[in-house]
Amino acid sequence: MIIRFYGTRGSIPVANKGTKKYGGNTTCLYVESKYDDVLVIDAGTGIRELGVYLLQNKKEKIHLIFTHYHWDHIQGFPFFTPIFFKNNTIKIYGSKKESTARKALSYQMTRPYFPVEMNNLPAEISFHELQKRNTIAGITIQTIVNNHPDYTLGLKLSEGKRSFVLLTDNELYAKNGNTPYEGFVEFIKGADFCIHDAQYTDEIYDKRIGWGHSTYSQVMKLVKDAGVKMVYFTHHDHGYDDQFIDSMVRKMKRKYPRVGIEAAADGKKVVLK
Ligand SMILES: [Zn+2]
Ligand SMILES: [Zn+2]
Repeated sequence: MIIRFYGTRGSIPVANKGTKKYGGNTTCLYVESKYDDVLVIDAGTGIRELGVYLLQNKKEKIHLIFTHYHWDHIQGFPFFTPIFFKNNTIKIYGSKKESTARKALSYQMTRPYFPVEMNNLPAEISFHELQKRNTIAGITIQTIVNNHPDYTLGLKLSEGKRSFVLLTDNELYAKNGNTPYEGFVEFIKGADFCIHDAQYTDEIYDKRIGWGHSTYSQVMKLVKDAGVKMVYFTHHDHGYDDQFIDSMVRKMKRKYPRVGIEAAADGKKVVLK
């Protein structure tokens, strides 16, 4: 699998000098299987740039998975140019538990919010429900229910012996959450790396309990307990600049010298073979 981050910011896009290194686009992850199939996870603002890449490279069969339908994970969809070309086939996957992808995407493409409606898009678009275990674009995808306001899925993607986990928008120690902490430890075990929401510091967390996000320290404990050797922090808080994120990565590296630690950055590519 080739994995590329197109959006790593949480809640709202930011664009200023202080966010050049990690980028300011909201969540979007691109995965290419060994058969060149195209898989996209979430349609935050980062999906705009990915759409340009897909058109230029004539990748016309697209699988788009949604972890959930909060605005920062769907807001780029109206600017995902493949939807405006009729030779593109876009299969959209998500949970139907509390809402559906069709409903979420249609609502934001309704006047007066956006001039083109979902029903008038030229691409061939279909909707599918994510199951506990799926095979999409040749990749096995297992799901877990995150602890987050509104139903949200965590994903484990496996191809052959390689696998990684994406847990974005997840509060590891949520009281009365959907999944206990130990469930996430089990879920990420054996993965080559884990991408996890690290929106907060320990200092601010007390004021953010129940908001559905985790701290850098909580994420480090998770990967250590599961024996996972590499972690990427994501869903960076919109108030954190590059310098601050760097300082948090350094701090965690001092505490956990045996774990590979990086903050995910828009444009960063990871090859898993
Ligand atoms: Zn989010
Ligand atoms: Zn969310």
